[in-house]
Amino acid sequence: MTDKIYSTNAYAREMPATVTGVDADDGRLLLDATVFYPGGGGQPHDTGALWIGDDRLAVTRVTADSDGVWHWVDGSLPAVGTSLRGAIDWERRYRLMQTHTAMHALCGVVWNRYQSPVTGGDMKPGEGRLDFELPQWDPEDKEPLQRELNEHIARSLPVEVSFLPRGEADRDPSLIRTKVSLLPPGLRQVRVIDIVGLDRQADGGTHVSSTGEVGTVTVAKIESKGRGFRRIRLVIG
Ligand SMILES: [Zn+2]
Repeated sequence: MTDKIYSTNAYAREMPATVTGVDADDGRLLLDATVFYPGGGGQPHDTGALWIGDDRLAVTRVTADSDGVWHWVDGSLPAVGTSLRGAIDWERRYRLMQTHTAMHALCGVVWNRYQSPVTGGDMKPGEGRLDFELPQWDPEDKEPLQRELNEHIARSLPVEVSFLPRGEADRDPSLIRTKVSLLPPGLRQVRVIDIVGLDRQADGGTHVSSTGEVGTVTVAKIESKGRGFRRIRLVIG
């Protein structure tokens, strides 16, 4: 299995690693450790490069399965056992960390106001959208919602990562903010992201360590997605 460095240290941009598997058909490598996020929970995978000495292999895609984290690369594949160095496109990833954190803050604010669960979401660097079941929405609520969101963010709330045994997580339904639990059945440990005092939920993605790093958030648009459902679009920075 790959040591998933991004899971405990979102700020790690580089790592030394050893190739532990090669899939020549798909042009992808399994590594013993990685800072590359494989995507999931609405957050896209990282991009970047692997370096073998001065030779650069562009990482165009990252995925995870039961074998570990696969790095899809352009160019000729190194052999199992090769030592290399990996580096993510940090500017893009940091923007995604800010965006992802802002989306959790929005979840918290919407939950506090309406107790509404999330039904879907997506993000790209600097922009995110979340869908809520929000029957009691009034268009007049947009400005106060944006103000409240920015007030929480400006308080520089700590964003903490912890791990809970599966049984404990299953006994705390508030950890699952999506309408349907997305926790894979075989998962034994659940990673929890806590924006202290605002939003706590099970999550695999990467976030900044304080909401102060998010900056200003604009509620760009609120669309109706059918009766009782709203899509909220955020722009960060
Ligand atoms: Zn999340």
